[in-house]
Parts: sequence; C-alpha cells; structure tokens
Amino acid sequence: MTRDELRTSLNFYKDLGIDEIYLRPISSPVSVEGATLTAPTAIPSLAPEGDTLLKIRQDIGDDCRRCRLCEARSKIVFGSGNEQSSLVFVGEGPGADEDAQGFPFVGRAGQLLTQMIENTATKEGIPIRRPDVYICNVVKCRPPENRTPQPDEMEICGQFLFRQLMAIRPKAICAMGSTAAKALLGTKEGVTKLRGKWHKWRDIQVMVTYHPSYLLRPYNQDAKREAWEDLKKVLHFVYD
Ligand code: URA
Repeated sequence: MTRDELRTSLNFYKDLGIDEIYLRPISSPVSVEGATLTAPTAIPSLAPEGDTLLKIRQDIGDDCRRCRLCEARSKIVFGSGNEQSSLVFVGEGPGADEDAQGFPFVGRAGQLLTQMIENTATKEGIPIRRPDVYICNVVKCRPPENRTPQPDEMEICGQFLFRQLMAIRPKAICAMGSTAAKALLGTKEGVTKLRGKWHKWRDIQVMVTYHPSYLLRPYNQDAKREAWEDLKKVLHFVYD
C-alpha cells in the first residue's frame, strides 16, 4: 500500500466517524513503498473499541451527506429493537413509510416481517416478539423510487451497518434479500442459491432469506414457505 492509498483509506474511515485506529500484530512482513515493515503496524479497524449504537448514530449525524441518497431522504433510518438482541435482521434500505417515520420495516413489508417473526415464534414455542430482535438496513436513507442501492452507497453506509453488528454482536444475522446478502457475504450469488444455509459474516452466523417485499408478490407461494422454513431455522438456532 502506498502512502497516498493509506491516506485515502484513513480519510475514508474518518468520514465515517472512525477517528482512532488500533495496532494489531501481523505475522508476515508488509511492503510500504519499497520498505519492508515487520509487526506491529497500524491496520485500520472497522469498529472503535467500546463502540455503541449511540456513538454510531452520533457519528452518522443528523444531516449525513456522505452519499447521494441524502438528496431525497426525509429521515435517516438507523435501526430499531432490542440493542442487546441475539438476533439481527438486515434489510435493504428504507421505503416511503420508513423514510417518513424514521424507523425500519414499518410499511407493508414490515407488517409481514412482524407477522413472520411473531407467528413463527409462537408456533415453535419460542417466547419472542418483534421488539425482542434488532432490525436495520444496509443503507440508512431511502433510495429514490425504492431503487436498489448502488455499490458506492452500500460501501459507504455499509460501514455503519458493520459497526452496528459489531456493537450488538448477535448470535445470528438474518439477511433479507440480495442487497443484504451481498453487503454481508460479498457475493453476487442470488438469494435462491444462498437461502436456507448458514454462512458467516466475520464469526457470526448468517442466514439468507427472501426479502419480505418479494414475498408480498402474489405468485410467490413457494418462496413464502421457504422463508418460513429459514426463519424457523434461525429462531431455533438463536433461542433453543
Ligand atoms: N424494505 C427494507 O429493506 N427496509 C425497510 O426498512 C423497509 C422496507
């Protein structure tokens, strides 16, 4: 890595509100502009030590302008639910209802998500309700016309998602839809291939399933059944 690349990288983290980096020992030598460095050297960490959801929300700020999604949004939608939950659901980005209210999954897709969580939990004898889990999105501002977030938007806002996940450290993450799967697993593979199996984000188990908005489409009965199966697996893994 050159000095300029290192400077760019550090400025990127600074823009995200990360203004401290931590020393981590490295085992193999690293080359910086021709010089060979041995351990220890500075590696930017994604999450400041002792990070909290409050600090992350403050770092985002009240009028975040780090990407173009700021132009049309009304409210930043950070996340909601139990901040110590063992289970985090990750969606794509706010829709119109979420943008107006400032909370994730409060529209039609949100009602379906609530039903799915609560009905599955009840049927399986698991004593949880929606407020017991934490819910957030990859991007915190509504993409215009609900378009899919673009890679740079996911990259910028995704760092806040990663900090949220590091701060909560749930036992499992449920990635709903391809944007969440892509952000967490870095894969272009579709949900149909990824769903129903365990993956990992860092050392945390990730279950990929369909996005509730997709399940609202009338012809997706098979997908609905599969999503219920996925959710059952997640709930038993986390709460048994
Ligand atoms: N769809 C999402 O991905 N997130 C929301 O918060 C609402 C709808």
